[in-house]
Amino acid sequence: MPENNRTEISSLGEFGLIDHLTKNIEIQNASSVLGVGDDAAVIDHFGKQTVITTDLLVEGVHFDLAYTPLRHLGYKSVVVNLSDIYAMNAIPTQIVIGIGFSNRFSLEAINEFYEGVYAACEKYGVDLVGGDTTSSQKGFIISITAIGEVTPDNYVKRSTAKKGDLLCVSGYLGSAYVGLLFLEREKKIFMESPGVQPDLEGESYVIGRLLKPEARKDIIEFFAQKEVTPSAMIDVSDGLSSEILHICKDSNLGCLLYEEKIPIAEEMKNAAYKFEIDPTACALSGGEDYELLFTIPQSEYDKLVLNEEISVIGYMTEPEQGVNIITKGGGKYPVTAQGWNHLKQ
Ligand code: ADP
Ligand code: MG
Repeated sequence: MPENNRTEISSLGEFGLIDHLTKNIEIQNASSVLGVGDDAAVIDHFGKQTVITTDLLVEGVHFDLAYTPLRHLGYKSVVVNLSDIYAMNAIPTQIVIGIGFSNRFSLEAINEFYEGVYAACEKYGVDLVGGDTTSSQKGFIISITAIGEVTPDNYVKRSTAKKGDLLCVSGYLGSAYVGLLFLEREKKIFMESPGVQPDLEGESYVIGRLLKPEARKDIIEFFAQKEVTPSAMIDVSDGLSSEILHICKDSNLGCLLYEEKIPIAEEMKNAAYKFEIDPTACALSGGEDYELLFTIPQSEYDKLVLNEEISVIGYMTEPEQGVNIITKGGGKYPVTAQGWNHLKQ
């Protein structure tokens, strides 16, 4: 055996590796008719409509292995795709996953990545039904496609919000961004003086939100249970202001957002102050929260208040009124993709 229990992938070959990575799959969905092992998977959706989404993640662009454990990376790669399926008001059922990696990666490393992949599959009840495996010149590349199902015509688009609808968001915003600031800071210190131990004491909440995000399956289940259908929905991957602008532009509406209503976790507020940045700015422009932003008719308000995980943060207006935020100080400013520029003044 080579040193450090490192197994070269070349000792298994491509087919040996695929078999190794997929041999313990236990199918969880009746819709997964045929999984790994043939030219393609077969999925039956029993009269439901199919939702499909794909994401490509590239080392050095989307993730930094200096501070991202491979297990977390595997988990997160799946979760970010499932979040897009939930954002359509659909239930994810299958994923396929393509990976490319250089010989810098050992079998042990790829195993760790797949542990995270399978943990997410189990948690969200999806089946891994296929993929592709290739080598890359440099670095790690991950491509994941997720498939989901929805009752015919029950899917929710970004473009169908109505004037007067309430604007709502799940969970807390901005934490993942502050988590990233901590990890980037510690990486920089480590690069300059490698002996120094990272100081991330007390920041496990914000760092956890970055490294191990969850998709809001619970919110979609709540909608089904309470028989509410949002009029429009999007997941928060690029920051609240960017996602609000998508809904407004695609629905041809304006909106009024209240700063005091934006859900911010206490841990994130304290962490943001350590960097002397405004927590609201982190929520508006940070991203990677994977919460759900949606609009809902005012008549459904009574059902919404039953869920503590949902905050009403504003309402939809005529397009002529623009997209604005009322700050805690009472000022009114246009929301831009970098909404915090205005708040900083
Ligand atoms: P083909 O040459 O027909 O594309 P492959 O040899 O690439 O087939 O793949 C064989 C089987 O293994 C297929 O079912 C494929 O979906 C699956 N597969 C390949 N790579 C992976 C992977 N990294 N993870 C999961 N399944 C994979
Ligand atoms: Mg192939």
